[in-house]
Amino acid sequence: MKAVSVAPGVAGSVRYEDVPEPDQSTGSILVEAVAVGICGTDVEIASGAYGWAPPGRDRLVLGHESLGRVVDVRPHGGLQRGDLIVGIVRRPDPVPCANCAVGEWDMCRNGQYTERGIKEIDGFMSQRWRIEPGYYTKIDPTLGILGVLLEPTTVVAKAWEQVAAMRARAFWEPRTALVTGGGPIGLLAALIGVQHGLDIHVLDQVTDGAKPRLVRELGATYHSGSVADLTFEPDVVIECTGVGPVIVDSIRQVAAGGVVCLTGVGAGGRTSGLPAADVAKALVLRNNVIVGSVNANRRHFYRAAEALAAADREWLGQLVSRRVPPENIADALQRSPDDIKVVVDFGG
Ligand code: BGC
Repeated sequence: MKAVSVAPGVAGSVRYEDVPEPDQSTGSILVEAVAVGICGTDVEIASGAYGWAPPGRDRLVLGHESLGRVVDVRPHGGLQRGDLIVGIVRRPDPVPCANCAVGEWDMCRNGQYTERGIKEIDGFMSQRWRIEPGYYTKIDPTLGILGVLLEPTTVVAKAWEQVAAMRARAFWEPRTALVTGGGPIGLLAALIGVQHGLDIHVLDQVTDGAKPRLVRELGATYHSGSVADLTFEPDVVIECTGVGPVIVDSIRQVAAGGVVCLTGVGAGGRTSGLPAADVAKALVLRNNVIVGSVNANRRHFYRAAEALAAADREWLGQLVSRRVPPENIADALQRSPDDIKVVVDFGG
């Protein structure tokens, strides 16, 4: 069969090539690929800046935003041939740490977790892949190819759960939330915020095109420009850019008692001369929380599947802005300003 593979650490090493059929040891459930989404992490791996090959190998099958159709379930209840499923990305560390031991591998404490298509285990950009019982989520079949949006939705389902956990600190009823960044993660964060009944504002740099339209179609408010120019103080900020000045402005703008949840993984963008003690003072005097959030566990996959199943299909459909066959993987990894989510279409 064929797969999109990469030599982590080597820029420009992505190829669509022949690889062996997926090994039985990688899971009893055999799946044919329908589609795999591309995100900033894949672009980073392709650039040589991130990613780890499986031990003893120098190439890794790319892809962690999966969607596949079950071909063979062997003796396993709960699934049937033809079901659409999405694979969970992370596997617990072998020690395991206390979090991994209780199924909260997204909170792994020792960094020895592995991740499909990212860290030491092959990903889902192959014509067929296997998965272990317990490491997949079934998708509402009416979603079709839009099920490929599940994994990025899990990341924001977890972020919202982190925010909700802060309600235990004090009497706090968040009403207004700002999402910084109108890419797929930001838009999916906005979708869940709207589903939770919050007054959602999304901020991005662009002034027209798909992003403002998609935000308005959700019933949320779109802003372009700087967080510092906003005329309100959000109770919650879901930060999805990873850009230094946006992060600092978000911390300064959040309302008293409010929460800033950081989900963006940026690099560089140093904010020179940042008066750290002044920022800390503002946080202390207003009881603010800054929380980082990465990855997702089974509970977040379940919640995300519920969120997608409840979403408007036409709206979700606009998020998948380009479908590219796997042989054109190089094109798929080049993002144009009009792209929201680029998807590698395996035609399965
Ligand atoms: C993935 C997460 C992963 C993170 C860090 C993100 O793109 O969605 O599942 O934990 O990268 O590797």
